[in-house]
Amino acid sequence: MAHARALEEIRTALGSKGVIEGDDLAAFTQDIRGAYKGQALLLARPASTEEAAAVVRICAAHDLVIVPQGGNTGLCGGAVPRGARPSIILSLSRMNKIISVDPERYTITAEAGCILQSIHDAAAQVDRAFAMDWGARGSATIGGGISTNAGGINVLRFGNTRDQVLGLEAVLPDGRIWNGLRALRKDSSGYDLKHLFIGAEGTLGIVTKAVLKLHPKPAFEQSMWAAVADLDRLMELFVLARSVASEGLTAFELVPGYTYEMALTKYSGLMRPVEARADWYVIVRFSGQQPVTDKFEDFFARAFEAGLLTDGALAQTIAQENNIWNLRDEIPPLKLIKGKMLKWDVSVPIDKIVPFLAHAQRSAHAIREDLRVIAFGHVGDGNLHMSIFPEGGSPGDAAFDAMCTRVVSEIDKLIWSYGGSICAEHGVGVENFDRLPGQKPAIEFEMMARVRDIFDPQGLFNPGKIFDPKRFPSASAAE
Ligand SMILES: Cc1cc2nc3c(=O)[nH]c(=O)nc-3n(C[C@H](O)[C@H](O)[C@H](O)COP(=O)(O)OP(=O)(O)OC[C@H]3O[C@@H](n4cnc5c(N)ncnc54)[C@H](O)[C@@H]3O)c2cc1C
Repeated sequence: MAHARALEEIRTALGSKGVIEGDDLAAFTQDIRGAYKGQALLLARPASTEEAAAVVRICAAHDLVIVPQGGNTGLCGGAVPRGARPSIILSLSRMNKIISVDPERYTITAEAGCILQSIHDAAAQVDRAFAMDWGARGSATIGGGISTNAGGINVLRFGNTRDQVLGLEAVLPDGRIWNGLRALRKDSSGYDLKHLFIGAEGTLGIVTKAVLKLHPKPAFEQSMWAAVADLDRLMELFVLARSVASEGLTAFELVPGYTYEMALTKYSGLMRPVEARADWYVIVRFSGQQPVTDKFEDFFARAFEAGLLTDGALAQTIAQENNIWNLRDEIPPLKLIKGKMLKWDVSVPIDKIVPFLAHAQRSAHAIREDLRVIAFGHVGDGNLHMSIFPEGGSPGDAAFDAMCTRVVSEIDKLIWSYGGSICAEHGVGVENFDRLPGQKPAIEFEMMARVRDIFDPQGLFNPGKIFDPKRFPSASAAE
């Protein structure tokens, strides 16, 4: 085998605990949805930055592609090898330690394979809060979150992952280590290179450690589940919540009645927070150092009087609070509906989100009357996860495939016509690789290609993801 020597060197560098091969690889060579499958010669599991760098040097010497992988919870196929070039997966799963928790600095330093929940637990122990939080918190890693610039349910108050990273360490494609683990809130000493690695989806370096911000832990936090009277007036409801709670509004999520009912049927442990049935619900969370119940009473009274809500229930116990957020975790259609899924991770300026959604539904109907747009998510950030499950055909059926392609293309164009993005928080990966060129001017891709070429002239790190540097003038010939 052409790469037998490289693989033997990796085995020697990492020992038996550090590699996974053969049939055991199958779980790592496909994504969580089973939508993307690839081939890998081996999975390397370094236990330290130095081991990760050693693996990279071996691969660089033997022209082996490296696909970094965290928890493999990504929704765009970015952590799975793609293409014909011989590849290995470099998993951060053994680099999962918390290095230090610094309550006075309001920071935590961790290895990139640390899962989100561990950081939340460590922060809570010193009376601090960590902002990065989403449904996959039990298995997504810090490194994966950084590499996709993930969002989640706290973006409204704290910003996305980019806003949580103070410093990081990365292994570069030539095997050198860059230690940028600075815990500084201020540093205007030139280019802030950490930002290049945030959202790079493993194409510029392997993130091995990070210094992350912590926040004061709110003494009071409560959520309300409410039935929306009229989706067209959702922005009025959002503006009211903001005016009542100001910075204390820490989540504003949209839930469709359609998948809510499905989730209640599927999971017997979930409870209906309100008796009223509606097409749409919202989850509103207020947090602060003072009790928030009075603010909720004010919010609900004003919203009800203005005809914005038909019903609402404020969580009074931890069990009720957990039920609301468990419902939120279980309403994604991916978990409830089988079949071919066309999906969009849309962001548009927040005041445009409702008109956009109605327009998307009209566009889908114009192509085929029975297409239903399902949307849910972080509406307070102007971000919706949108999907369509077209029936009556299967992949491989030419007419069905052409119809699906048309729907995706028309809705992508619609998103751009609203000044939006098709990759709000999940990244590009493979999923949006062919679609992204429509979103940005060529000069932007050219700059991205130049950056990629400087870091990785051999095209070793995660080729076939985000964009194709060969399509742009400065492209490296290697990929
Ligand atoms: C139920 C569920 C809910 C979700 N909700 C949200 C949500 O609300 N918001 C959101 O933003 N995402 C969400 N996601 C998507 C996913 O959890 C995030 O994209 C997350 O950031 C992926 O982390 P991971 O560790 O699983 O990374 P992976 O899936 O393993 O990798 C993702 C990408 O990052 C690269 N990568 C991973 N680790 C490194 C590293 N250390 N160095 C360099 N590159 C690396 C990979 O090559 C790949 O390109 C959800 C997923 C699920 C399953």
